[in-house]
Amino acid sequence: MRKNIVAGNWKMNNDLSQTETLLTSLKKQKQTSNAEVMVAPTFTNLWHAFEALRESNVEVVAQNMHFAENGAYTGEISASMLKSVGVQTVILGHSERRAYFNETDELLAKKVDAALTNSMRIIFCFGEELADRKGNNHENVVASQIKNALFHLDAAAFKNIVLAYEPVWAIGTGETASPEQAQDMHAFIRKTLADKYGNDVAQSVSILYGGSVKPANAKEIFSKPDVDGGLIGGAALKAEDFYAIVNAF
Ligand code: PEP
Repeated sequence: MRKNIVAGNWKMNNDLSQTETLLTSLKKQKQTSNAEVMVAPTFTNLWHAFEALRESNVEVVAQNMHFAENGAYTGEISASMLKSVGVQTVILGHSERRAYFNETDELLAKKVDAALTNSMRIIFCFGEELADRKGNNHENVVASQIKNALFHLDAAAFKNIVLAYEPVWAIGTGETASPEQAQDMHAFIRKTLADKYGNDVAQSVSILYGGSVKPANAKEIFSKPDVDGGLIGGAALKAEDFYAIVNAF
């Protein structure tokens, strides 16, 4: 049985005191679903969040990492540094990293390898731009993003990979893919995995949807058979909204 997961990506929001406030209010929330819950604060607040959530069932994950183990990469953070502050899971390939920091499929393949070498779990993000969707090229784009960054891996690696389909046109825009659009794409992603690795692997990988998920639309999106949860941006910054989504299963 694959897992339901809800992960909050806090992006470049929340200084230390704002992080403390949000962590305090997260700890007051009640979980009524069986979803795995994760939050991704900024690098500077990872250790603090890890300590604060140690006794909870909320996992603290990172928003990014570098592929090298260490060395002359000013401003970067390695997998072993993340692990040293309690982080076991990293988000890779977010569309903002691809668009603003020129992260290519080739670079992401190296980051994926580095994370897996360090026994980390990966939430691997991908998704088409609006022009791809309008040109009916969205499936080709998504298939090539997955193939280029992940299809050099063996089947066993997928035990440590969660996929996150995030159409770029729906991120932070208030525009959501319809539940049917999400389901169609998730089914396509699962088929793409099945064609390469077989049905057992395809059925075991959790595929999250991301893009303007809110308390008001989460239930319908999560009710789709191939949608196993969500990667949440804006709505993850308010504990009540985030838990309304966590509890939407
Ligand atoms: C995201 O950044 O991954 C995201 C889905 O953002 P939002 O929920 O704000 O659209």
